[in-house]
Amino acid sequence: MSIEADPSVTADPAALDAADPLASFRRRFVIPDPDLVYLDGNSLGRPPLRAIERVARVATEEWAGQLIRGWDHWLEAPRRVGDLLGVGLLGARRDEVVICDSTTIDFFRLASAALDARPNRRCIVTDRANFPTDRYVLEGLARDRDREIAWLDPDPIDGPSVDDVGATLAAHPGDVALVTLSHVNYRSAAIADLPAITALAHDAGALVLWDLSHSAGSVPVGLAEHGVDLAVGCTYKYLNGGPGAPAYLYVRADLQAELRNPIQGWFGQAEQFEMGQGFRPTAGIGGWLTGTPGMLGLAAAEEGIRVSVEAGIDAIRAKGIALTEYAIALHDAWLAPIGFTLGSPRDAGRRGSHVSVRRADARDLTRRLIEAAVIPDFRAPDSIRLGLSPLTTSFADVARGIAILARLAGSEPAAG
Ligand SMILES: *Cc1c(COP(=O)(O)O)cnc(C)c1O
Repeated sequence: MSIEADPSVTADPAALDAADPLASFRRRFVIPDPDLVYLDGNSLGRPPLRAIERVARVATEEWAGQLIRGWDHWLEAPRRVGDLLGVGLLGARRDEVVICDSTTIDFFRLASAALDARPNRRCIVTDRANFPTDRYVLEGLARDRDREIAWLDPDPIDGPSVDDVGATLAAHPGDVALVTLSHVNYRSAAIADLPAITALAHDAGALVLWDLSHSAGSVPVGLAEHGVDLAVGCTYKYLNGGPGAPAYLYVRADLQAELRNPIQGWFGQAEQFEMGQGFRPTAGIGGWLTGTPGMLGLAAAEEGIRVSVEAGIDAIRAKGIALTEYAIALHDAWLAPIGFTLGSPRDAGRRGSHVSVRRADARDLTRRLIEAAVIPDFRAPDSIRLGLSPLTTSFADVARGIAILARLAGSEPAAG
């Protein structure tokens, strides 16, 4: 183990922080305990100061002060914030993204709409390492609509490859209605090849639905550039929108009228306040809304999204790569010699903004880390997931967190 010989490990984390162009963004967040090493911003991002102020203002000035009159401007919020996110961070065009409901609900609605649009095809393609809620929703849809799931069984670290998807499409010629995957895998952080898989699915006549929960606010997506059909994701992870913040859905412009919103609610109705007979969807992405949005949550989400838009997705991506490269260098120097293996891709271009490290006693180590004021999360059976949020995680956090892990796991890191 030659810690001294590896410049990325001997690099002083304070020097890396001093050279970080996004370092000042940390001051825009509420961080009551600076000694807590928080490595879980990919499960629940820290609160932006402006989100806290905004929620207070919406409650006192708008809710208390304007009362029902608030809806004059609240009604526009799902689309306004959808554009801020879609155009600002996801590479969508205007009027292709709205904020509404939860990721699970939005995923159900878009998967359901995709199946309705391909009534004569039986197969849904997804992978066994996909996020549980996506798999459960698909199992229910397949059962209720007499479809079948063609499961991919990908490499647990690298995730589904273009070849995996191609082989499954070829095994069900003309019979795949929907291909749906996570863009960034929640466990290993593997980035799926969104452009190539989207093109393959289109060649086979299928629709594609991407779950962007771990990509939004951490890696560029390019929805319009790559011709993606459908996407969903949550705003409480890298977008710092707050616990249970509302999710978003994306429907490509030309599909908005072709596909049908399976929940015909009054917020999707043209001339909503005529309260007329019969559902007539409003044109555009607004037709994909369903019911009354929660304005306190939406206000917090808007401020969370705005911080990432201001930082810029390319700068965020560059910092995410630097943080994960640093974490992997520390893993190799301090953790690999004591029995850890890396549970994330080594190629930075194929890796999102978290890193999983694996050892059989990961559950117990996670508990001891939390006692030592280092918060990662545990993913059964053997992974400790280190979420590195580009706007709030410092290089000093990474060094301290991994040094404490190495110490707890049985070794004194030389540079720790
Ligand atoms: C976090 C996450 C979700 C969460 O769904 P909720 O409806 O917000 O509970 C869904 N999909 C993926 C891929 C996630 O990472």
